[in-house]
Amino acid sequence: MAEGRLRALLIEDNLGDARLIREQLRDANVRSVALDLEHVERLQAGLERLEAGGIDVVLLDLTLPDSQGLETFEKVRARVPSIPVVVLSGLDDEAVAVHAVQAGAQDYLVKGHVEGSTLLRSVLYAVERARLEETRRELEQQKNDFFSSVSHDLRTPVAAIKTSIGVVLAHEPAGISPALHRLLENVDLAADELGQLVDDLLEIARLQAGRVELWRTDGDLRAVVQRCVAQAEPLAQAQQQTIHVSLPAEPVVLRLDAERVGRAILNLLGNATKYGQSGGAIWVRLTTQRDGVVLEVADDGPGIDPGEQEKIFDRYYRAPGARGQVGSGLGLPIARSLVELHEGRVWVESTPGAGSHFYVALPWEASHEPESVPAAPAQ
Ligand code: ADP
Repeated sequence: MAEGRLRALLIEDNLGDARLIREQLRDANVRSVALDLEHVERLQAGLERLEAGGIDVVLLDLTLPDSQGLETFEKVRARVPSIPVVVLSGLDDEAVAVHAVQAGAQDYLVKGHVEGSTLLRSVLYAVERARLEETRRELEQQKNDFFSSVSHDLRTPVAAIKTSIGVVLAHEPAGISPALHRLLENVDLAADELGQLVDDLLEIARLQAGRVELWRTDGDLRAVVQRCVAQAEPLAQAQQQTIHVSLPAEPVVLRLDAERVGRAILNLLGNATKYGQSGGAIWVRLTTQRDGVVLEVADDGPGIDPGEQEKIFDRYYRAPGARGQVGSGLGLPIARSLVELHEGRVWVESTPGAGSHFYVALPWEASHEPESVPAAPAQ
């Protein structure tokens, strides 16, 4: 848009209505903005004009010779998603206009029942709101890109610390003091935690951008669980916790992205070690049911207030009691998103003071199974 100059496209087949709107807008024109109005009578002509570019806002009659009702709006939206649309309706199709607003139109006006100043204000607001929305999207994109690149950059040094401390621990000289040994182990654990944080940041950025691709293969879920338990074992040992694992005797074969499901399970297990009592116990139970499998990860920690039980699945949310622990507030939203990509569910049951039980339910078979599934939209 040229500074202070807006170009609107009116798509309206009733020439009387079109003339009225043109006159109303002309009379209401405010000094700071000049509104140029172009007019076409058919949807097809409108779509072609929109594709040619240069239009800032559309005034759209929904009942046209070549398209009627909500479909008219949907076709415009599909063709030019970022151009704001103000729907024009008659008294008899106001309900459809309301649907159009629910589907993304900026506003609707009943023809012949609005003054010129209201019409103009609606158009200006529509443009402004669309511009704010665009800015918000760009900022969101920049934030995601920033997360992604910082996390990538952090990965290398974190991996270097982890490898180096591993070598030091493996070649620890005899007679090293227990205090020094503990310090080295602390560095090792801290490197794990940092690595997990970095991975979480990368994964949430991918999920938000809809860039998570599932690579499903048939596999025994018991093996995935066992691998996660082995990975969580050092964290549990550091807290003198015991992990009790109960798995079915028969293979539990599902078609899933083992790495992604493993990450979800590991996030739950990591939380159980983090928030569970030190010296306490963690239970991991995998059970099969008629329509799918359920994995339970339970701990004997402080539990979670009922009022917090849904909020903890929000990005970055951490319950007040979690402040003493390292964390990003990303583990649970990631776990839930990854499981939902598999058409499963994650939920918690907890009584404050009596530990937390987290559940992952996965269906035996996904109803549809694309190789790559777009992530849930950012909240
Ligand atoms: P993080 O652990 O990094 O804070 P999560 O998304 O994994 O992030 O968890 C969000 C919040 O949910 C935690 O900050 C904590 O308040 C709560 N929470 C998660 N797991 C447990 C648990 N096993 N016991 C008690 N609280 C938990």
